[in-house]
Amino acid sequence: QFQGKYALVTGGNKGIGFAICKGLLQSGFEVIVAARSLSAAKTAAEKLQSVNSKVRVVELDIADDQSIDQAVKHLSQEIPQLDVLVNNAGIYPDEGVNILTISRELLNQTMNTNAFGPIRTSQAFLPLLEKAPQARIINVSSGYGRLNGLSFDVPSYCLSKLTVNGATIMLADALQAKGIAVNAIDPGWVKTDMGGTSAPRSPEQGADTAIWLATEASVNLSGKLFRDRREISY
Ligand code: NDP
Repeated sequence: QFQGKYALVTGGNKGIGFAICKGLLQSGFEVIVAARSLSAAKTAAEKLQSVNSKVRVVELDIADDQSIDQAVKHLSQEIPQLDVLVNNAGIYPDEGVNILTISRELLNQTMNTNAFGPIRTSQAFLPLLEKAPQARIINVSSGYGRLNGLSFDVPSYCLSKLTVNGATIMLADALQAKGIAVNAIDPGWVKTDMGGTSAPRSPEQGADTAIWLATEASVNLSGKLFRDRREISY
């Protein structure tokens, strides 16, 4: 059904991103595993080959504009269009700090990656997204980015995901005229390097709503936040 459609997942080398890559390949997408380490992307792609051989890799550090531009330049020569962009990559660096003690440096690092990364990546891939008939952007947010989920001892992460949610609303408005849907997801607490071993959800469960938004969900849905395939409040 999704033959000839292209999807790129940032941070696709492991965790939820890897599970999203796998699910999209199973649906027939040609998937580009984007990772800041090209060797990590290649290792992931080798594992995914058995699911579907239509898997590519690209080096993409979402905190670095040059890396983003380089990835777009490279892919523009390889693929005709981008149907789905999943802004999944992120960091969670708030160990041992709170809103009273966090440094500007750490705030900058988290915002630059988690919040400004998806914005700059969406901007850069717009020319390729516009070539697809009904492109979709999916931002992997978090319950920590919801107004009732803000936590003073997870300050930079919460602020970054709050910004991802705000950017989702703004990008959806800005891209409505182009027919590009933009939504965010809360994957729940997921067993990954970030989520840790106590998390109740598998990466596949965490990936499910993103895959649903890329495949089955109505393209008329835009500017919204979803968890378990249902809209939830910001
Ligand atoms: P992981 O730590 O397992 O994976 C994070 C991914 O992001 C890795 O591929 C990592 O690359 C990549 N990444 C980090 N920084 C950059 C960067 N500058 N450029 C490119 N890639 C980068 O985490 P999860 O899979 O758990 O998280 C995926 C998303 O889900 C994140 O946005 C996270 O905030 C969100 N989320 C996760 C939850 C959970 O419980 N796990 C809960 C709610 C949201 P590398 O391998 O090189 O480090």
